[in-house]
Amino acid sequence: MNKLLISSALFFLLLLLSCGDSAVSMMDPDGGHAFSAPADNPEHAEMCHDNMEDLSAAISMFYASTNSYPDNLIELETVAPGISSLTCPSCNLTYLYELKNSGDVWTVTCPLPDEPNHGHIVNGQSSWPPDPAVWPEVCHSNMTCLASCMAMFYGCYNRYPEELSELGTSGIYEFWDNPCPACGEVYQYTTNSIGDTYTIHCPMPTEPTHGYVIDGICYWPPDPSGGIEACRSNMSSLGSACAMFYGQENRYPIHLKELGISGVMGNWDLVCPSCGELYSYSSDPDGQTYLVQCPLPNDPGHGFIEDGIVSW
Ligand SMILES: [Zn+2]
Ligand SMILES: [Zn+2]
Ligand SMILES: [Zn+2]
Repeated sequence: MNKLLISSALFFLLLLLSCGDSAVSMMDPDGGHAFSAPADNPEHAEMCHDNMEDLSAAISMFYASTNSYPDNLIELETVAPGISSLTCPSCNLTYLYELKNSGDVWTVTCPLPDEPNHGHIVNGQSSWPPDPAVWPEVCHSNMTCLASCMAMFYGCYNRYPEELSELGTSGIYEFWDNPCPACGEVYQYTTNSIGDTYTIHCPMPTEPTHGYVIDGICYWPPDPSGGIEACRSNMSSLGSACAMFYGQENRYPIHLKELGISGVMGNWDLVCPSCGELYSYSSDPDGQTYLVQCPLPNDPGHGFIEDGIVSW
């Protein structure tokens, strides 16, 4: 949390330094706020949501030790030192806290005055849709839920439903129409005429989707964002091996497998963790330049290294 605090403070400082005159107008002397449309900055929204979740966790801890909710955020300092000074990264103000219904209902609200601001949490329940970073996770958990409801349905009726909506009409799962958080669409469902097999597919209109389920077995694609660091470290290894090869041969390899043949790099055939493909490699006929590139088909992939210079 401290790291987050420092990084948001730093970010704000950089913002002030980088925007010159506009930074002055941001610090309105009347205490008003010149910010508009905070939703335009998804990073800020995500950081602000994280802050509110930290506050929510601290309120639960406070409740666990005192059996009551705090009267104000300062009281949280006893369970989480420093927490009351968390600020929204868009306006740099501390969070608003309200305790109502004779101390039974609490609300933590983003201090941004403009609508829409970053939302609020009421008794641990957040008001905002999931942030992009957790979309795949949320989509997978939606599909896993549907799959276990399919099994329950099969247990009752000895067949899978004809339509997803039967999960709702049968009373097994009223949230059958929970959408994929990325595209907001209901899951695609298919079955055969006797209802002994089914597929549930993430409804995202473009590839890569979040995957699918066939008869209870989940097929999740590798997460492209999760693989980016591993992929770049693979490319760096290949780049260093190319440099070593140059040291021996006075030229770069023509094919990556020359790294293996020459004994410079035994595992020259490592793959991008996201797509499972070998790296694409090219060099000029004299072997004086080279290019190692992530093979991910979607643009941008994880980048490339050209003659030792990384693209990221
Ligand atoms: Zn906020
Ligand atoms: Zn999805
Ligand atoms: Zn890659």
